[in-house]
Amino acid sequence: MALSPLLQRYEQVILDLDGCIWVGERPVAGSPEAVAALRSAGLRVAFATNNAWRPAEDVVAALWGHGIQASLGDVVTVGAALQHLLAETRQGRSAFVIGGEVVLRHVSDAGLRVVNGTDAAQEADVVVVAGTDQVDYADLRDASLSAARSGDLLGTARDPTLPMPGGHWPGTGALLAAVETASGVTAQIVGKPEPQLFRTAIDRLGGGPTLAVGDRVDSDIAAARAAGIDGALVLSGGMSAEQAEAASADGGPVPVATAADLRTLVLGDAAA
Ligand SMILES: [Mg+2]
Repeated sequence: MALSPLLQRYEQVILDLDGCIWVGERPVAGSPEAVAALRSAGLRVAFATNNAWRPAEDVVAALWGHGIQASLGDVVTVGAALQHLLAETRQGRSAFVIGGEVVLRHVSDAGLRVVNGTDAAQEADVVVVAGTDQVDYADLRDASLSAARSGDLLGTARDPTLPMPGGHWPGTGALLAAVETASGVTAQIVGKPEPQLFRTAIDRLGGGPTLAVGDRVDSDIAAARAAGIDGALVLSGGMSAEQAEAASADGGPVPVATAADLRTLVLGDAAA
C-alpha cells in the first residue's frame, strides 16, 4: 500500500500509544496496517509513551497482542528517556527516587547510586519523581529535603491525574507537586510536552526527517515542536478538531497534518 504524500516526506516516525495505537485496552482500527505500511515503505518506527509504570517488555507484549510487531528497541518509555538523560548528565551521582521498580532500575542503569532507605536519603544529589502507588510520607519528606538541598529535581511527567473508571487518581504531577511545594524547587520534566522523550526516540532511530504522531496538541505536538521535529495529530484519542484548533491558537503548537486516525494519516484517502 502506498503511503500518503505527507508520510513520504519522512524517514522515521515516532508513534504515541494511548489514543493513537490503542484507547485503553481497545485497539484503534487500522493501526496495525498503518504500522506495517510504514515499515514496508522503509520508514523506521518507534513507539513512545509517557507511561513510567509499565516496563517496555509489557508494551511490546501489548503491541503484539494487537497485531503489531515490535521489539524492545522499538519502545521508548519515559523511564528509558530518563535513563538516557541521567546517563548523559548525572552519572555517578546519588539519587533519591519516588517511583516503582521500573524507574528504580532505569536510574541505577544510568549509573547513579540509589540512596532510598540509607542514611544518605535526605541528601541525595538528584531527586526523581515518577508515578507510583508505592509512596509514603517518609518518601515525600526525604525527596523534599534532598531536592531543597541540591536543587536538582526531575519528574517523568506533570500529568495531575490518572483517569480511572471510578474517577481520577493522583498522577505523577500530584506527587511531584508535593515535593515541589515542600522544597521550593521546580522540576525538570522528562516526558511530553518536554522534548526529552522524543530526543531519546530520535537517538534510538537514527537521523533523518522525523514525524511524531499523537492524539494531543498540548502533549504530543508540543513535544514535537520542543524537539524540533514535525508533529501530526490523530483524532482517535478523544481530542476533537475544535479542541485541537483551540490548543494551536495564540502561538500554540500547530500539527503539520490532522487526520481521523493513524491509518488515514499514513495511507491517505485512497485506503479509506
Ligand atoms: Mg496519547
